[in-house]
Amino acid sequence: MKIIVTGGAGFIGSAVVRHIINDTSDEVLNVDSLTYAGNLESLTSVEGSDRYHFSQTDICDTAAMAALFEEFQPDAVMHLAAESHVDRSIEGPMAFVQTNVVGTCSMLEAARGYWQKLTAEKQASFRFHHISTDEVYGDLEGTDDFFSETTPYAPSSPYSASKAGSDHLVRAWHRTFGLPVLVTNCSNNYGPFHFPEKLIPHVILNALHGKPLPVYGDGSQIRDWLYVEDHARALYTVVSTGKVGETYNIGGHNEKRNLEVVETICDLLEELRPEKVDGVQRYRDLITFVKDRPGHDARYAIDADKIQRELGWVPQESFESGIRKTVQWYLDNTAWWQRVLSGDYRLTRLG
Ligand code: NAD
Repeated sequence: MKIIVTGGAGFIGSAVVRHIINDTSDEVLNVDSLTYAGNLESLTSVEGSDRYHFSQTDICDTAAMAALFEEFQPDAVMHLAAESHVDRSIEGPMAFVQTNVVGTCSMLEAARGYWQKLTAEKQASFRFHHISTDEVYGDLEGTDDFFSETTPYAPSSPYSASKAGSDHLVRAWHRTFGLPVLVTNCSNNYGPFHFPEKLIPHVILNALHGKPLPVYGDGSQIRDWLYVEDHARALYTVVSTGKVGETYNIGGHNEKRNLEVVETICDLLEELRPEKVDGVQRYRDLITFVKDRPGHDARYAIDADKIQRELGWVPQESFESGIRKTVQWYLDNTAWWQRVLSGDYRLTRLG
C-alpha cells in the first residue's frame, strides 16, 4: 500500500510511520505541519528509507492536500494530525476546533475529490482511517462499566469535543458520499518519543531533575494505558483488514489510577537510576498534589473485545512491561528529550 499518514511527526504518528517502514513493505507520505508537538527527530531511524517521504503541510490547506493526493496516489490515509493536549485545549480552544474539526473536514474533502476520480476497483479498496480517542465518550463513574463502540458521545473538554466533532464528520462523509472510512477510538498511550508535557514523560523527567511530580486532585482518576507500539500495530491492522464503515475501540485493559502510575515510575527509577540529584532522598518524596483540572474525567476504560474478536489484534505489552521499557527508554535517550526541553528539536525542520 501507499499510505498518507497525517501527524506522522507526533507521538503516535511517528510510531505508526516507524512500524510501517520497519515491519511492512508499504510506502508512507508523512504530512505534518510541525507544530510544537511535531518532532522529525523521532523519525531518524526511518528517514533514509526510499519508502518514506515527508511534506510539511497544514491539513487545513485543502488545495495543498488535494495536490498531495494527486501526486502520491495513496491507497489509504491514516489521519492522526491533531491538537492533542487537554490542558492546552482549556487555555486555547480555538486551535483545537481549527485543526481537529476544520482540519479533518479539509482532509475529508481532499480525500473525496481524489477518491471520486479513482476507478471503481480502486474506489472500493481505498480507506480513510480516522484516529480518535476514548475521551469522546466522556467518563465512567463506577468501576464496572467499559466504553464500547456504541457508547453515546458525551465529551467533557474542548479537546474531546473537537475530536467528537471530527468523528461525526468522518461518519457523515461515509453515509452521505460513500467514502470508505474506518474510525478507531483509543485509550491513553504511553511509550518512547512522548512529548514531555504529557503525564508519564513529565513525571520521569521531573524526577530525574529533582523537581516536584504534580498529581491532579487526589490522583484517583483512572486511565486505561496502552503502549504506543501496540497502538501502532492495532492501527495498521485496522487500515489493512478493518471493515469499511466500522468503528473499533482500542485499549490495553490496563486501568491504573494516576497516583499509582506516578508511584510506579518512582519505584522503577529507584531501581534503574538510584543515584539522584542532590537533596532528593526518595523519588516518591517529590510527589505533589495540585489543584484538579476543570472538568477532569474520573475514569476511562475501553472494551477492546471487537478488534480482538474480529481482527485478531491483542496488545503485546502489559502495563508493567511497557512502563519499564518506557522509563528505560528515557534513561537511554537523553539527547532526544534534552533537545525537546531546550527547544532545539524545532531546528531540525530547517535543516
Ligand atoms: P501529538 O500531539 O503528539 O502529535 C500531533 C501531530 O500532528 C504533531 O506532529 C503535529 O505537528 C501535527 N499537526 C498538528 N496540527 C497539524 C495541522 N494543522 N496540519 C498538519 N499536522 C498537524 O498527538 P498524538 O498523541 O500522537 O496523537 C495522535 C492522534 O491520536 C490524535 O488524533 C489524537 O487525538 C489521537 N489519540 C491520542 C491518544 C494519546 O494518548 N496520545 C490516545 C487516543 C487517541
